[in-house]
Amino acid sequence: MNGAGKLALYTLGCKLNQAESDALKQEFELRGWEIVPWRSPADLTIINTCTVTNQADAKSRNIIRQAVASSPKGKIAVIGCFAQLNSKAVEAIPGVHLILGTHEKNRLFDYLPHLKEKPLIVLDQAVSQYEESSFTSSSSRTRAFLKIQDGCDYHCRYCIIPQARGPALSRSFESSLTEAAKLVQQGYKELILTGINLGTYSYQGKKLLDILRELTQIEGLERLRISSVEINTIDDEMLNFLSENHKIMPHLHLPLQSGCDATLQRMGRRYSTALFREKIETLRRKIPDIGLGTDLIVGLPGETDEEFAATESFIREMAFAYLHIFRYSIRKNTAAATMPDQIDERVKKDRAARMKMLSQRLRTAFAEKMIGKSMDILWEEAKNGHLSGWTPNYIRIQAPGAEDLINTIQKTSIKSARNGQLWGELI
Ligand code: SF4
Repeated sequence: MNGAGKLALYTLGCKLNQAESDALKQEFELRGWEIVPWRSPADLTIINTCTVTNQADAKSRNIIRQAVASSPKGKIAVIGCFAQLNSKAVEAIPGVHLILGTHEKNRLFDYLPHLKEKPLIVLDQAVSQYEESSFTSSSSRTRAFLKIQDGCDYHCRYCIIPQARGPALSRSFESSLTEAAKLVQQGYKELILTGINLGTYSYQGKKLLDILRELTQIEGLERLRISSVEINTIDDEMLNFLSENHKIMPHLHLPLQSGCDATLQRMGRRYSTALFREKIETLRRKIPDIGLGTDLIVGLPGETDEEFAATESFIREMAFAYLHIFRYSIRKNTAAATMPDQIDERVKKDRAARMKMLSQRLRTAFAEKMIGKSMDILWEEAKNGHLSGWTPNYIRIQAPGAEDLINTIQKTSIKSARNGQLWGELI
């Protein structure tokens, strides 16, 4: 395959996958490709896959089949975590031309001229150095992802990510700062730091706090958002910095996974509920309106009704702003796969549904607490005379306003809340 054409792209999974797909999309556009909506016929269709649960595997397979049906004459490339760990399953789907592992996807353009009917399969071998990608990524016209880390060494007992993405690797300090400065020059007002386990960032003695300090010095950068960070990597120095630096957005995604100490221990997590509670209390004392989101796994082997109830009550107590809920599923070659007392699917579904309802209640309550306050909003889009964006503490907001206010920060008064979203008026 040579030259430009039409590209369709679908992304499953985490923020890092999203960031990597956005970067790819931009690179294709720079090379003259036209991006077409999903399920439109395309010369090339890319599916950036996920394998974090059984549901993610099933969805990855379905989306690949959809792509083949939508573009029977085009080429199909399947990349990312599901491709890396399940290449045989992908190869078995007729119509796939290219299968690339999680790091190999950075070399996608090298493989395009060599596509034949029989799929070309290139998976990651042992990766020991952070893979610099020349692609820069943006999530919108106003916010851009900045990837500084990949992989994980924690090996939580249920998790397949270390197998799919390899060991924890950090981008060089200089390259991270250079890309940040470039993005700011391009006009982005907010950067979102991304990685698999950001708190373990380590490059020649420089840690996450060092990079945060440097990034907030960049002239023209208005806001910095930390996408997700493990609570045990946040020490007092970091807590103080987060609360004192006005460029850091008052929003953290802190994966809890379970609110029961026995379950956390079986998961192999590196904190107790007491530590989690203590850090959250400090964060709330120092940053009163901070938006705290979390990830949760229901149905780990051996999770009793009492353990689940302990999790429910801990989550209520922590009053998260939102929950991302996952039903546990057996992942090959993980310690939890062979644990006794696997939980029945119906029980997992029931627990997930209860958590979903709790999440909706928490989201609504958090949004309602913002009524009457005023906040600086970075407006991202405009439609039918209405602007939309996110509050600093990560709640969707709309207000009447014109398109020329996109990518500007405006003081906005919060007037009302509905279904976890806010409505405001520019001041
Ligand atoms: S910290 Fe645990 S859950 Fe998160 S990616 Fe690493 S091994 Fe997986």
